Amino acid sequence: MAEEVNNIRVRIAPSPSGNLHIGTARTALFNYLYAKKTGGKFVLRIEDTDLERSNAEYTQNIFDSLKALGLQWDEGPDVGGNFGPYYQSERFDIYPKYAQMLVDKGYAYECYCTTEELDAEKEEAVKNHKPYVYSRKCLNLTEDEKAELKAKGVKPSIRFRVEHKELIFNDLVKGELKFDTSLIGDFVIMKSNGTPTYNFAVVIDDMLMKISHIIRGEDHISNTPKQILIYEALGAEVPKFGHLGMILAPDRSKLSKRHGATAVSDFVKQGYLTDALINFVALLGWAPSDGHEIKPVDEIAEDFRINEISSSNSIFEYDKLNWMNGQYIKKMDISKLTDMIIPFLSKYNDMEYGLGQMSRANLEKMVEITREPLTTLSEIEHDAAYFFGKDVDYTEGVETLQKPEAKTVLNRVLELIDGWDFSSDEIIHDVLADLRSEFKEKHNMKPKETMWALRAAITGRTKGADMAKTMTILGKDVCIHRIQKALEV
Ligand code: GLU
Repeated sequence: MAEEVNNIRVRIAPSPSGNLHIGTARTALFNYLYAKKTGGKFVLRIEDTDLERSNAEYTQNIFDSLKALGLQWDEGPDVGGNFGPYYQSERFDIYPKYAQMLVDKGYAYECYCTTEELDAEKEEAVKNHKPYVYSRKCLNLTEDEKAELKAKGVKPSIRFRVEHKELIFNDLVKGELKFDTSLIGDFVIMKSNGTPTYNFAVVIDDMLMKISHIIRGEDHISNTPKQILIYEALGAEVPKFGHLGMILAPDRSKLSKRHGATAVSDFVKQGYLTDALINFVALLGWAPSDGHEIKPVDEIAEDFRINEISSSNSIFEYDKLNWMNGQYIKKMDISKLTDMIIPFLSKYNDMEYGLGQMSRANLEKMVEITREPLTTLSEIEHDAAYFFGKDVDYTEGVETLQKPEAKTVLNRVLELIDGWDFSSDEIIHDVLADLRSEFKEKHNMKPKETMWALRAAITGRTKGADMAKTMTILGKDVCIHRIQKALEV
């Protein structure tokens, strides 16, 4: 990665009013990638000013999810940095002086309008089919008028005085964007209770934290002109903005819980690997130059070019995520995968021949032979069910087992099995090959029919993991027991 040779500083500024959303994870990723690519710094700021909606559990979830995705920040609430505090709620004393500075310079003014007055203005605008713009009623209040209102106990908010002009900026993703600021209206920067509004706090924080590039979702695009006007009024350097297209559900509506998981931690609970998730999310709006979609974040960072981010919306294809997750499951280190799979097998913890009784070696072997078809880790609960317990459910295998030739196979196995050495997969593999040959020669049975009978007896299923290894994991006694049971089906 490049040395820090510049002042590139990017940030992710989530509000802890919910668990980390997959869309926020993508925004965080693109910021992270840009920092890595350029040797800049990636900052985490928690925008917890809405004290009613924010809570510590969500903040922790944001930390944990970002970390699990590999998006470690260089500066932030827990790691510190030179530009803290990184919790917005600890910055309340910073904002009033900047608001006052704007008032003193004539860029902002006190507004004493009551909620009722403002509502009446808004209603009027609706009646006239006009977009609502504040009337500037309080723009020219005299000092006496203000003193009178204050004496009545009315607490003013502070409004930014919007200069009417065409505001043009070059969005890193969307290109040149133009806004007519006369449509914005003078907006509140400090509420009458003394707290800053989002648009004001975000500018002050980004300015003081020396954020150079603001990469965020296009749902914030309407805020950008207001924020640029504040930077200009403060005489501060305006950062570069890049607005990412939204992530939509396959039906092109806003991605929501009814489509599936939306919080990173929910995806993890469902058995998605964070490496797969972050790789998948990178492809929502960005494409690798060599066309190879499966890549770790480090490699993506090297290949990443911000101006190549697609400006259009991206569709969150759960099917593609499943496929990609499957690819990661197939390639993952077996010991790590086993550790991750164990929680998904908790149902089998405390039973006879349960998870607790299985050796680590057998557990890893089981994972190795069952991982191939998995798209999420949670599927293991079903796919590996027959490795646990003394008995199995024969619902799926019953048809196979009721065939007379199946019974012949199973009776023959019971005659032979005592002599089979279960300590070696190869030996069991060979004896099963001999069994198939014998049944082909003597009974003209297809090799797979012989195996179906055995599989149905031992696993209750018609398909599943490698048979010889399944048998050595289960052990001779369980195999004999299940074959005997299957003969009664
Ligand atoms: N707290 C804001 C949000 O979560 C941050 C917006 C921004 O990046 O400016 O949407």
